[in-house]
Amino acid sequence: MQRQALRWRRQGTRVGLVPTMGSLHAGHLSLVRRARRLAGPAGKVVVSVFVNPTQFGPQEDFSRYPRDLGQDVRLCRQAGVDAVFAPEEREMYWRGATAGASTWVVEEALSRGLEGASRPNHFRGVGTVVAKLFNLVLPDVAVFGAKDYQQAAVVKRLVRDLNFPLKVVVAPTCREPDGLAMSSRNRYLEGDLREQALVLWRAVCHTQAAVRQAARPLPAARLKDGIQRLVAQAPAARLDYVEFFDPETLAPAARVGRGTQLALAVFVGRTRLIDNVRL
Ligand code: AMP
Repeated sequence: MQRQALRWRRQGTRVGLVPTMGSLHAGHLSLVRRARRLAGPAGKVVVSVFVNPTQFGPQEDFSRYPRDLGQDVRLCRQAGVDAVFAPEEREMYWRGATAGASTWVVEEALSRGLEGASRPNHFRGVGTVVAKLFNLVLPDVAVFGAKDYQQAAVVKRLVRDLNFPLKVVVAPTCREPDGLAMSSRNRYLEGDLREQALVLWRAVCHTQAAVRQAARPLPAARLKDGIQRLVAQAPAARLDYVEFFDPETLAPAARVGRGTQLALAVFVGRTRLIDNVRL
């Protein structure tokens, strides 16, 4: 991959990268279209497919995460992707993930709260694998989804802090017709869990309406209570966290108005889903 990327660079070919963990859906494909526009018709679009072990906790779903490389390659071909980079774990981590990595890329400010607080070491794994992918694919532009809002913020920061010569672009969240944010993990939602997963979208809409109707900023604590109650109405749902914060600094907000960011994580059965929105 790196040899090819260096050839492209020497020829002056623009490269757009879309990093993914595979099991591609329409959300990923919207990032591919964005990458194509940014790379231009003569540029190259690379999709990486790698379920990165170092960003999963020991109790998380690494081993059962959905994998379907054949289908991913077909979708990429249809979408006009130039290269799918799907390395093995041992190619990415010398001697494998647990034994073979002793150098990490750790962002220490934006990655502390939210997902970082719920998933220790998650962003260490993300930062490290993203830095490795940037060094392997040498993209001019990398496209990330707003669905993983904090991840995009952390990646933007690490690109700035470590002087990676590329631009990070964040594309909007793609949703199912009923509002559920598209996610590879939605495949876990069997039976009525799919319907119960709509609590995330309901929480978002409910909060958006409350903030729009309010004449002045609302206390975050009151809105959090409302979301907690809404989530409790779905019997299989358990709120992991809900947070209101500044969209740039990710600092928690005590009062919530237009422009505040909302993010939440909810277990629906065993499946952990996340969503976020700018209010
Ligand atoms: P993943 O394969 O889940 O690690 O996601 C790979 C990239 O696709 C990340 O930048 C995600 O933020 C992005 N992504 C995932 N789901 C969506 C979605 N529903 N809409 C837009 N981007 C998404």
